Amino acid sequence: MTASKRAAFVPLALALLGPFSFSAAMAASPPAAAQQVVSQGADVYRLRIGSVPVFALSDGSVPMDLHQLLQHTTPARTDALLQRNFQANPAEASINAYLVQLPGRLVLIDTGSGELFGPGAGGGLIASLERAGFEPGQVTDILITHAHSDHSGGLVRGGRRVFENAMVHVGKPDLDFFFDATAQQRTGYDQQYFDVAATTLKPYLDAGKVSPIAADGEVVPGISATLHAGHTPGSAFFTLSDGGENLVFVGDLVHSTAVQFPEPAVTIAYDQDSAGAARVRAEAFDVFAREGTLVAVPHAAFPGIGHVRREADGYAWVGVTYTNRGPN
Ligand SMILES: [Zn+2]
Repeated sequence: MTASKRAAFVPLALALLGPFSFSAAMAASPPAAAQQVVSQGADVYRLRIGSVPVFALSDGSVPMDLHQLLQHTTPARTDALLQRNFQANPAEASINAYLVQLPGRLVLIDTGSGELFGPGAGGGLIASLERAGFEPGQVTDILITHAHSDHSGGLVRGGRRVFENAMVHVGKPDLDFFFDATAQQRTGYDQQYFDVAATTLKPYLDAGKVSPIAADGEVVPGISATLHAGHTPGSAFFTLSDGGENLVFVGDLVHSTAVQFPEPAVTIAYDQDSAGAARVRAEAFDVFAREGTLVAVPHAAFPGIGHVRREADGYAWVGVTYTNRGPN
């Protein structure tokens, strides 16, 4: 991965290279895009799966330079697909986390970027959680789809655990990989990913608050995990099931809905194993489209919940219909 690729996604740029890269990435934005920068404050979207309340919680959004980041495509092709969706590069990526209110348990799925990307870029999760009516101390379990900065970053603040009463569940292959002192040299995967895993997970490991997910199966009552090596070695899907309804939290199966639904073979520089990531995406889209599965996508436009529709040459993303009637 080149330095420019590492700098292309603002969150990673901030985590890796600091303010200089942030300025460089912002300078790449056309003036029109800059004028569209708006702050929504805390953002919460509620739904139910069966009788279980689920909350999409916004951590914020960030610009993403798809010209630099996407692989197995060209900038011209990316621009054409963005234009079809009335978008332009750099494209705005949401950072969504999800909260599931199970009987006796409050389960958070991913934690946003925390303070890793600096002011104004992500880090809004706690405000959204409180807007939904909860405090960090009430969270009993945290399911991490994979140990990247924009999913595990919110676990810590100033090196301390934000969720003092929570057990963190994360794919054992991610723990094995990111805490293997030889893995960086062996694979060439950027050192900053290993640093992020240490920063965000070690305080929980030291406190005995990490439960590795070693195999497919139930993680907490009502939510099961399946492991899908590719984007990272321990990337996981989590499936919430209740009353005959399901919602599958897919982690970074998709970074750009405009590009990767029509062309699932397009990969991204963050993939630890891009061929594996593409294979996982192709298989999952096929299943989701055939079965009409409701899925939660962290980087799709908030709330990032919707369906996958088969199209002639690929797939399309169909976000949920907005619903807002009566008290929940
Ligand atoms: Zn991500």
